[in-house]
Amino acid sequence: MMDTRPAAQPPCRHVWPWTRRPAQRLLLPDWLAITLGGHIISWRELDAVELAHEAAHVEQWRRYGVRFIPRYLLAGRRASRAGGDRYRDNEFESAARAEAELVRTASGH
Ligand SMILES: [Zn+2]
Repeated sequence: MMDTRPAAQPPCRHVWPWTRRPAQRLLLPDWLAITLGGHIISWRELDAVELAHEAAHVEQWRRYGVRFIPRYLLAGRRASRAGGDRYRDNEFESAARAEAELVRTASGH
C-alpha cells in the first residue's frame, strides 16, 4: 500500500526575544530554544548546529505526537533516578545532541 500522507512540513521557526527571561527562569538558566510540535521557538536566531538539535526534536514530536510530552518527562525522571541530570542526560536530548554533532562535524567546526 502506498503511503499517501503528505510530505512532512518543514518546522515553523519563531524568534521571540521576549521568551529569553521567563524561559531561562522557568526552564534552564542557559535556555535558548524549545520545540513544540512543528514549531521551534528561540530567543535569538539559531545557527545550523542548534537548528539540527531542534530539528531532531521536531522529528521526535512527529514520531510520538502529544505522547512525546509524557515520554520526555519520564525519560528525564529515569535519567535523574539513574543519578544523571533530567535534562542533559534525557535520552531525547542525547539523541538531539548526536544529530547536532553530525552537522557540527560535517561543517568542520
Ligand atoms: Zn534539546
